[in-house]
Amino acid sequence: MASTITAGAAGSIHFGDFEWQEIWKYAGARLADQLRALPDTPVSSKAPPSEIRSALAAFDFTQQLAPESVIDFALEGLRRWQTQTNHPGYWGLYVPAPSSMGVIADAIAAAFNPQLANWSHSPFAVEVERHLIQAFSSRLGFPASACDGTLTSGGAEANHTAILTALNSVYPGLWEIGMRGLPENPTLYCSAAAHDSWLKAARACGFSRHDVRVVAVDDRGRIRPGDLDDMLSADVADGRRPVLVVATAGSTSEGAIDPLADIATIARNHNVWFHVDAAWAGALIASPQLRSYIGGMEAADSVTCDAHKWLSVPMGAGIYLTRHRGALRSTFDVTTDYMPRMTDDLDVVDPYRASMQWSRRFIGLKIFMTLAVCGWDGYAKAIESQVALGNRMRRVLSEHGWRLMNETELPVVCVVENDIPGPSERRRVQAIVDEVLREGRAWVSAAELIGRGSVVRCCVSNMRSTDDDVDVLVAALNRARVKAGRVRAS
Ligand SMILES: *Cc1c(COP(=O)(O)O)cnc(C)c1O
Repeated sequence: MASTITAGAAGSIHFGDFEWQEIWKYAGARLADQLRALPDTPVSSKAPPSEIRSALAAFDFTQQLAPESVIDFALEGLRRWQTQTNHPGYWGLYVPAPSSMGVIADAIAAAFNPQLANWSHSPFAVEVERHLIQAFSSRLGFPASACDGTLTSGGAEANHTAILTALNSVYPGLWEIGMRGLPENPTLYCSAAAHDSWLKAARACGFSRHDVRVVAVDDRGRIRPGDLDDMLSADVADGRRPVLVVATAGSTSEGAIDPLADIATIARNHNVWFHVDAAWAGALIASPQLRSYIGGMEAADSVTCDAHKWLSVPMGAGIYLTRHRGALRSTFDVTTDYMPRMTDDLDVVDPYRASMQWSRRFIGLKIFMTLAVCGWDGYAKAIESQVALGNRMRRVLSEHGWRLMNETELPVVCVVENDIPGPSERRRVQAIVDEVLREGRAWVSAAELIGRGSVVRCCVSNMRSTDDDVDVLVAALNRARVKAGRVRAS
């Protein structure tokens, strides 16, 4: 690395106009080269930490390096030492290949660096996000006159926001007395298939593990509505106060969608806030053809939808939506004497008074610019073709002697070997996954399905993956199966 270091604009934080443009062009060209080459490089890295640390050890920050050489170092590091979500053989964990407009938008947002804490600093940025909240809400079927929302770092923050808004709606005086002042235990309901970010958020909100009730699921990983109903009644009889029911649309392991309409009715009957965690599958609102899969979501009090998952914008871009205007404001409101106040007589809310973050980057721009270029129709096509690719993957895998272990309309395919009797062991599944990763042409993971043991999980994640890439994956899995078998025999 050291040999490529040149003088350049080393030592300066700001570059002159000409130099800046040259460096920008340089970075763009080098980035494009690297991304173009990705399909021919291994999907993931096998490097031990020591390899990366010793490359970094060359940086003691006593020398001033040329920007070009630092750009090269960063690009090379990311090319060599990362699981490549841009690779068409990445069948991964809901991490997308980012949209080109999203990448450009993120750079533009960084360059202008709008401060989204308050409206008066960044009226355009705040209005773009307000516009997006309305567009997503109406697409989702929330009443336009009442909807509200906020852009978040991701699904975890959106889920955390959901717990807080639910608590504050059930206990409008919570800020006066705090969680310790409540007369009964506020209780949250979700299934074991729900995302674990719910546990983290519940902890951060002051719940104990006993206040998070785990609802039973059926053999497709979906909440059993009858069990939820019984649990709510029993808990109320026991002196608990149910505050939030969480349903998942697109569970992480197997893409299960809870019965949203049934759960909505149950939550309403028990007067509990109903949240749908549609971090991944919320993107189906783009497709008139497929949106019935998440029917019932429009009855939720609030929804999580990550634009950085199936809507393919770069991280982090989560969305929290609610049908209750004012819920965010009453949950988070504070006033300070140092923030500009010129918005008092305008029809606007400063984001810092209605969300978890304070200084915040312009998350919405990458969603706005991508959606503006591809439109809902463009998203619909991309999502429908990924669903079709998932169906093809299911068909080809079962033709090649793989047993399908999950049942979903979504493009997440969980398989085990056909000829292994009984539930598959984690060790054996892991050996197959490790071998696929070692070959480097595809990336899959091991997962556990509730009541069904370990599986190889393959999820369509890249809008550019094709039928041929599916064939490459199936061939890799077939080779890995043979090899893992030999390992076991010896
Ligand atoms: C990914 C995911 C989350 C967490 O979202 P982040 O964007 O990673 O913070 C929560 N719930 C579900 C269902 C998810 O798929």
